[in-house]
Amino acid sequence: MTFNKSILVIQAHPDDTEAWCSGTLKLLHDRGYKITIATMTAGGMGGVQSTEDITIEVRKEEAARAAALLDADYVCLDQRDGFLFDSTDIRLDVVKLIRVVEAGIVLTHHPLDYHADHRATAAITDAAAMISSLPNVPIDEVPVPVTPLLYHTTPMSLTDPLGVPLSPPQFFIDITSVIEIKMEMLAFHVSQIELMKHMHKIDDFFGEMKKYNMELGQMVGVPFAECFWQHLGGGYQKNPLIQEELASYIKTVKA
Ligand SMILES: [Zn+2]
Repeated sequence: MTFNKSILVIQAHPDDTEAWCSGTLKLLHDRGYKITIATMTAGGMGGVQSTEDITIEVRKEEAARAAALLDADYVCLDQRDGFLFDSTDIRLDVVKLIRVVEAGIVLTHHPLDYHADHRATAAITDAAAMISSLPNVPIDEVPVPVTPLLYHTTPMSLTDPLGVPLSPPQFFIDITSVIEIKMEMLAFHVSQIELMKHMHKIDDFFGEMKKYNMELGQMVGVPFAECFWQHLGGGYQKNPLIQEELASYIKTVKA
């Protein structure tokens, strides 16, 4: 079975992709993968001294500029930040996007992420990916030939919303060689520096993100890492495609 070298990342907000998986995306981009970065919302609640409308405008621009570093297209599905609900329309929009970019791989949040919008994004993306090859879905775009492989990115810590440890990541990717690109992508999200101070009492947003990648790296003995879970439940193919493509960067926790 072959999967298109097209990767669709669907996250809730601008800056999520940069925070959770952009190092790995850079490595895949360098191996010839076409990347599309989509967000369910434009992060309109993520402005501290700015209206929702202005914040939306600013954050779309930030996201598009960050995506350009991976030659990636940025798509916003224009749902409302903080109020993301599952619906027929949003599922159809995601199926459309999967079909338009002919995704072979889809990445989204972890189903047990800390943020309600992230959990909704994971559920909607799972539901849409599951039906993306089916001809009876009532849209015009041509079905993908095979259900794309689905992967989940990490929450802000390796715990569920109640603080209980998640099942361990299935694999870690050593992103040490691309950490500077990741930081460059994050740095476009200037609007979030103030928000992180206000919302999470994080004074140094970009530094905290780097520190998290450092902590993940320490778990596997490299300077910086990202970690992933592949969706291995029923209905999905289980080919370990990212793991094979990036075999030389794969790290596992030492016993
Ligand atoms: Zn987010």
